[in-house]
Parts: sequence; C-alpha cells; structure tokens
Amino acid sequence: MQLLDRRTFLALTAGTAAAGLAAPARAGLSGAEIFTADPFGGVVDSTVILGEDSAVLIDAQFTLPNATQLADVIAATGKRLETILITHVHPDHHLGLAVIMDRFPEARPVAHPSIQPLIEGAAQGLLDYMKAGQPDNFPDRVVIPEALEGDAILLEGERIEVLDPMHGDTDLISAVHIPALDTLVASDFAYTGTHAWVAENTTPEKIDMWRASLAKLEAIGAGTVVPGHRSTDAMNDASAFAATRAYLDQWQAALASTSTAEELKAAMMDGNEGLGLGFALDRAVGAVYPG
Ligand SMILES: [Zn+2]
Repeated sequence: MQLLDRRTFLALTAGTAAAGLAAPARAGLSGAEIFTADPFGGVVDSTVILGEDSAVLIDAQFTLPNATQLADVIAATGKRLETILITHVHPDHHLGLAVIMDRFPEARPVAHPSIQPLIEGAAQGLLDYMKAGQPDNFPDRVVIPEALEGDAILLEGERIEVLDPMHGDTDLISAVHIPALDTLVASDFAYTGTHAWVAENTTPEKIDMWRASLAKLEAIGAGTVVPGHRSTDAMNDASAFAATRAYLDQWQAALASTSTAEELKAAMMDGNEGLGLGFALDRAVGAVYPG
C-alpha cells in the first residue's frame, strides 16, 4: 500500500492555503496537523496541535501501522509531545496509544475524568478482541490515560479546552476547542463522507441527544472543524455538522420506515453507495436486527 494512500496531511499552519484557513487569532500556537488512518484503521483522525517547541495530540489511532505513521508525523514536527488526550472509549481512538508512548515516553496521556474509567475498564478487552483476529496489527499492551485535572490542557500558555462530555456516537465524548487556532476537534460527534457509527443510536431519543450535541458544538462557531472520521477529500469546516445531521436524519427515517435488516441497509445505502466505514452500517443494522 502506498504511503500517500494511507494518510492525509492537512497543514493548518497559518500562511498555508490548506483548507483556506485564517491565521491564528493570537501568536503562541503555530498550527495543527491532522493524520487520517487508512480504511483498515477506520479513517479516524488524530490532530497534532503545535506550539513553538511542544505539541499536544488528540486521539492516538487504532492499528499499530497507523499509530506508527502518526508517531512519524509527530517526530517530523520536531516538537516535544507533552500531552495526549483520548476523547472517548472507542478503540479506534486509543488502542494505538502504546505505540505513541513507546516513541514519546515523556508524554502524558489523559482523558476526561468521566471517560477515563470507561477506557480503563474496556481497553484490555478491546485489545484482546482485536488481537485474536489480527495479532500483528495491534500493539502488545494497553496504556490507560490518567484523569485530566481541570477543563483544559495548557500548551505554551494557550488553552486547549476539553469540553464537558456529551452524547455523540457513544454516550460520553470530549470535543476539544482551541480558541487560539479557531479550531474545534469534533471527534465522533462529526463524520464527513463516511458512514457513521450509529449502532449505539437506535432510538429517536438517542439520535436527538446527538443532534443536540451537534447544535452546541456548531454554536461555538469555530472556523476549522476536524471530524472524527472522514473521506480523503473532506473539508475541515462546519459542513461536518450538516453532513452528520443529514446522515442521522436518513438513519432515523430508515429506522421508522423499514422492518427488516435488508430493508434498513438498503435505505441507508440509498445515495451513500461510495461511503467508507461500511462496517459501521453493518454493525448498526445488526444492533437493530440481531442475528
Ligand atoms: Zn471513532
């Protein structure tokens, strides 16, 4: 597989033309780089926030090859990785953490205090499950993040705001707002150009909770929005909210209008033939129609 097919770099540094971004509002943070996993790794985004000398990572990838590539990206920045925030319990956001810690042992992995125990409780089982099927594609151990103290990570004096967890594709997810970069790392509240993980959102009540979270995040008004998962041509802007809302609308309508697994899947494939993360749809259909 070619390297360039396996990852997407989008320099958010001021002065580049990438994604048409404005300069940071304040000096201090110099930009960010986004690493996107290959399809096997779930096209999950990790964001490297860059200071003058130091960096903060949001989410640590899924597979060993993708986490290794992410570590190479961080090393190439020449910055000292200080902190790694894990946004939620899903394994595609943290099983690669052991790889990152092997490369950057001085870094401190953290998660919101309401999310940290979920990761601590689930990580080893998630790794065992993945390694049972694909022993070479995952690290040999889990790293459990510490509970974050306070509501922000400081990077060279700038606040990286870890927002109170809300309901997205799972019950508790921390989005991250970086005012100095006019950037919101939306994690798995937002999907752009892929199927979404809706297996944990099979009732109108849950789907409405996700919509309410989207409305709160969109109201922040960040110029740059990094989704949790993306197609390679996806933009980093507020269109991620509309795209996710449209997918949820289609999912809710499909749930209401179909009565078999086959009908539900067909209704979700309508207009979505080219989307990645097809397994997420299969798991969602399976959650509604088990067996
Ligand atoms: Zn995810």
